[in-house]
Amino acid sequence: MTSRWADTDEDAAEDARRKAEKAEKKRLKAEKQRKADEEAQQRAAADAKNDALNGHEYDHERPSKRRRLSHDNIPTTHEEERKLLRFDAPAWQPCRSVERFDRLNHIEEGSYGFVSRAKEEATGEIVAIKKLKLDAARDGGFPVTALREIQCLRASRHRHVVDLREVVVGGSGTGDVYLVMEFLEHDLKTLQEDMDEPFLPSEVKTLLLQLGSAVEFLHDHWILHRDLKTSNILMNNQGEIKLADFGMARFCGDPAPVNLTQLVVTLWYRSPELLLGTSTYDTAVDMWSVGCVFGELLTKKPLLQGKNEVDQLSKIFELCGIPTEDTWPGFKRLPNARSLRLPSNSNNAHGPIVRSRFPTLTNAGASLLSSLLSLNPSNRPSAKEMLQDPYFQQDPRPKPTAMFPTFPSKAGQEKRRRQASPNAPIRGAAPGLQGEMDFSSIFNGREEEEKGGGFQLKVV
Ligand code: ADP
Repeated sequence: MTSRWADTDEDAAEDARRKAEKAEKKRLKAEKQRKADEEAQQRAAADAKNDALNGHEYDHERPSKRRRLSHDNIPTTHEEERKLLRFDAPAWQPCRSVERFDRLNHIEEGSYGFVSRAKEEATGEIVAIKKLKLDAARDGGFPVTALREIQCLRASRHRHVVDLREVVVGGSGTGDVYLVMEFLEHDLKTLQEDMDEPFLPSEVKTLLLQLGSAVEFLHDHWILHRDLKTSNILMNNQGEIKLADFGMARFCGDPAPVNLTQLVVTLWYRSPELLLGTSTYDTAVDMWSVGCVFGELLTKKPLLQGKNEVDQLSKIFELCGIPTEDTWPGFKRLPNARSLRLPSNSNNAHGPIVRSRFPTLTNAGASLLSSLLSLNPSNRPSAKEMLQDPYFQQDPRPKPTAMFPTFPSKAGQEKRRRQASPNAPIRGAAPGLQGEMDFSSIFNGREEEEKGGGFQLKVV
């Protein structure tokens, strides 16, 4: 049947031309689609190759056109592969000014900072503020020791370590830096000086357990305190103690770094290996100081009050015995031991006298004290081991902190007044520069004799 409209040959030719035109358009469209598909395939292959070169796994399901990923259209399948990496931007905030605190009274000027009691204006909270002494920086920069103090305190969040609230700065242009800490009413040194009687044995146990747990925490976190002493142990009126003053602290590793500063730890609490000039030491230096604190808590008096390094060593040998190659292998090779003339073993009547010095202490207590005061650092117990010692299990049991007596706070009033005692060594100073007798010069050639309560240490 012919078309109603194609009546003529002309009409039929026109009809055919249109049909051919339509067919050509269809062919061109198909051709274009084929080319587009081909290109898409090539792109996908190239992407896969790039991904492989860049170490990414080829994602077969990735669409040829990249889809914009927003929170709304992140696909739910292969969630892991498509998760965007997120980094928490550090919340940098400028330090607040010390002017937000009202200074109430001066507490103490220590070796590295002035400590005051203060009230935060906004909250009325009472805090302790320590102004760091920054003059140790030779190049005018921020001293690394001050940085360490802040870093170590920050890393030591523990029930028995003083809480560092924040670091604040002085008024414009002063460059002063202050540590804002929780305030505690006492330090054990000032407190003991005001007490008529020493702490009771049950109280000593509680204090030692708290100190031990703080030191255990530090050592577990690779921090050496290096200035443990009663004036750096703060106490509140709930019988809780907190370790303070991280001015000498530093991070260490295992094995401990070589060439550590020798001039650390306040003289009366300084271990024999430090006095003999070792430059590799470890957590045992802190455990020696814990032993000294233990002895001091029992009697209310610092245990080993040397006048200088040589005298300190004499007093140590008098109490703990004289080291031998058997009890402390290799000690003679320590720098300051080479020129030390010790009584020979045969006439060594100086065994440890810790037991007789503390006649009322239980056997377990005397044994713990003796092991903390081992001349050979590797014989001292770790803080963890100390906490497990039978001494703490025996009667009298450690007194609950809630039952501790309260004492009037010196820090809440006037400046704390203390009896004279040596300060922590000056950071960065060479040994002997702090008005104490220069141990190394004495040990080099000169004949010197230090008398210490019947014990004589000869130095040649
Ligand atoms: P330094 O590094 O100068 O020796 P410390 O940090 O040891 O300074 O502080 C010196 C003294 O200040 C301490 O012995 C203690 O009496 C007092 N003190 C330190 N921190 C506090 C505090 N948070 N609360 C109360 N008193 C403190």
